[in-house]
This record gives sequence, C-alpha cells and structure tokens, in this order.
Amino acid sequence: MKLSRYTQIVEYEGKILVFNLLNDKRAVCIDPTDLKMIERLRQGESIDPAKLSKGVQTFCVDENIDERKVCLGLLQSAYWDKRQLNFIVLPTMDCMFRCKYCYENKDHEAIDENFMDDFAEAIRTYHLRNRLKNLSIEWYGGEPLMVYEKIVDFTKNLNHFCETENIEHTYSMTTNGYLLSFDKAKTLIEMGIRKFQITVDGVKETHDKLRPHKNGNGTWNTIIENLLALKNSTLDFHVMIRVNYDTEVVERISEFYKFVKDNFDDRFTVFHHVISKWGGANDEEMEVIDPSTSQYVDTLLVEEAVDHGLKPDMNFYFTKFGGRVCYANRPYFYILSLDRKLRKCTFTDEKYDAFNVVGYLRAGEFEIDEKKLLNFVMPDYEKMNEKGCYDCQILPICHGLSCALRRAKNQVIDCVEEKINVKDNIIQEYKYYLSLKK
Ligand code: SF4
Ligand code: SF4
Repeated sequence: MKLSRYTQIVEYEGKILVFNLLNDKRAVCIDPTDLKMIERLRQGESIDPAKLSKGVQTFCVDENIDERKVCLGLLQSAYWDKRQLNFIVLPTMDCMFRCKYCYENKDHEAIDENFMDDFAEAIRTYHLRNRLKNLSIEWYGGEPLMVYEKIVDFTKNLNHFCETENIEHTYSMTTNGYLLSFDKAKTLIEMGIRKFQITVDGVKETHDKLRPHKNGNGTWNTIIENLLALKNSTLDFHVMIRVNYDTEVVERISEFYKFVKDNFDDRFTVFHHVISKWGGANDEEMEVIDPSTSQYVDTLLVEEAVDHGLKPDMNFYFTKFGGRVCYANRPYFYILSLDRKLRKCTFTDEKYDAFNVVGYLRAGEFEIDEKKLLNFVMPDYEKMNEKGCYDCQILPICHGLSCALRRAKNQVIDCVEEKINVKDNIIQEYKYYLSLKK
C-alpha cells in the first residue's frame, strides 16, 4: 500500500495529527510503530498491508488506484442523482433591513397567489417522474419571514405529501432574525424548519452600523432577544450565527464571542465571512479588508471562536470532502425566485442570467434546459489541468469547482488554495473536540 496522496500530517503541541481529505478521516498518531510506518510511507515507500495497523491503513491506498479519478468520480456520482432535489427559494426580495453591504434589489413585488401552489405542484410532478428520495428546501430572500404565513401553509402541505410518499425532507431558513418571535420560531421548528442561519455582525455597535433597520434604528437588540427566547426553550434546532466582518467587527470579536458563549448553548454555532464589495449601492464608500489578508484574518477568527469554546462549524466544513464546492455545481440544486426562473447561482442579477438561468417553473412543472444546465455544472477539465488541480493536495475539498458562475461566465477557475489554511483549520477542529472532553 502507498500513502494516500490526500493524507497530510501536522504537529500540534508535540502530537502528530494525521488527516485525509478524501475520506475525511482524522487521527492522533501516538503509537511508535505507526509513527515509523507513516514516516516510511511519507518517504514514498510502499508497504505490505499486513505490516500496517488498521489505523494506518485508513490513510493508505492500493498502489494501482489513481485517487484523483476516485476523488472526482465520488463527487460527480453523488451529484448525479435525480432522486435528490434541492432548492433555495426566494419567496420575496423585500427586506426591512438596509445592510451596508447588501447587493440585492429590494423590490416590493408581492408573492403571487399561485407561486407556492405551482411550486408544490411541480414537486409532485417531479416525484411522479423521478421518484424522489430526498427533498431539501432553504428559505432565503429578501427576508423570508416577511411571507411567514405562506411558508407555513406551503410547508404543512408539503409535509403531508412527503410523509405519504415516504420522501425524506429537510428544511432550513436564512433569516435576519428580526421577525423570528418565539411563537413563529416554535411553529417553524415543529414543522421541520429547524436550521437557521442568522447574521449578527458582532457586538451591538458594529452590528447596528452594518445592519440597520430601514427606519434607521439598530436591529441587534431585537435579534438577540429573539435568539435568547429560543435558547431558553427546550426546542430542537440549530442556529448558525453568521458574522460578516470588517476591521471594526474583528477588533471586537473577542467581546462578541464571549457574549455568545456566556448566553447561548451548543444549539448555536458561529461562522464568519469577510465583507467584500458584493455589488451593492454602498460599494464605493465601504472599507473592506484586503482580500489578500483575509485568509490570515479568517484563521485568527476560527482560533478566537474555538478559544471561546464555540464551534465555527461552517469553517470546519470547508476542510471536508467537497467543502469548498459551491452548491451551484450540483445539477439538481436550483435557486427559485418570484420571477419563476430556476437559477444556479444566488446572484440573481439579470446580467448573469444568460448563463445562470437553466429553467423555469411553469404550469406546475420544472422545465429544465439541459444544455444550459450542463454548460453551468460540468467541470472544465482542460482549465483544471492548466491550473494544476490534478496535482493539488486539496483537490478533494475544491474539485476545481468552487465558483460555478465564474467558470461558466468567464471560463475562469476560482482557486481556493490561497483562501484556506487547511492545516490550521485541522488543528482548530482538534482543539475544539479536545475542549468538549474537558
Ligand atoms: S482550483 Fe486551486 S485549490 Fe482548487 S483543486 Fe485547483 S489548484 Fe487546488
Ligand atoms: S458567485 Fe460563485 S460561489 Fe457564489 S453562489 Fe454563485 S456560483 Fe456559487
């Protein structure tokens, strides 16, 4: 056996951490014989499996296997399953916040009465043709809770359908949290919308500056009150607190993470993302962190979260198999908005539509233009070769597929190598799990 090309080693406080990015295995290697074997394998030696412990074999592969093919094949075969259908739905583009970095047009187009019915009908039609096994729906916007009743009615009916037809169904919601009163949250959670992504940009002062209400007032107090009401319940949910950061947010992040740790429990995790000029109206005047330093800042923030006993779960997910592949690369994953277009990327700006729109919701059916879909989702193997993806150690994370929009529109592969510090992330993940044992 040879060492898997995706096995890496990192030292932390005198311990050897071994991890593999293809099978997502991680281990602390303490046995002296195992350590010796790993060292020999790292030198390129091939060793009889009988001489290797089961643990070491986990990080090895048969000599005849080209893992690059395995890596690319595993992802694609998981993706090309019509029985798994996923949506991000934008049931409104309206929002009561005026976030400084927002790139969305806040039109006030009301949801038309037939939209949800057509959507439900199209799911039923799809199921008749393809026998659905899993269905996932993420409510997004705009602010989805502005059409709370519509979502509740739709979900009730869909639950009934999925239960009758034995279809696994998972729901989630990205909301600003402002309208998420306890009663609403309870109703949503009880009907299966249990995962929420809610953005809180640090302490009150930094958040209120970045995410004011359209009336000019701050929004932090209301969001935190809503989250505390949830925390004080016994409900089963997961809230990922997303922190979009600029320099001021970073300066006070320690204070914020202490607040989160002191006031919430492990149903709440954190995730941070650097603020960029995302194409919104305030882009010119916004001061953003230099993208070339964001990997460094990101690493510090992961460490800060872990040191406060918080789980930066999305950041940990980034070092898992396919963790940096955007969902837009998945063929049966669509963004559905009120204009009834089925897009791939959440950037709904019309300037991308020539590439981004791959179908329509029409008369209770999803009409997909297969050529447009393939043009959007297929890997560009030639560009990957030019980029060096086939020799890249983090191919299992990225697959040369990170941003599908840039690949489809500009024939550019958006390389994430510079954007992620894999070894440091693995150390922080280990530190986090150690802290759970204390
Ligand atoms: S795009 Fe960059 S990070 Fe991704 S596989 Fe290719 S070389 Fe590696
Ligand atoms: S811009 Fe790229 S990475 Fe972002 S959602 Fe669209 S396809 Fe995905």
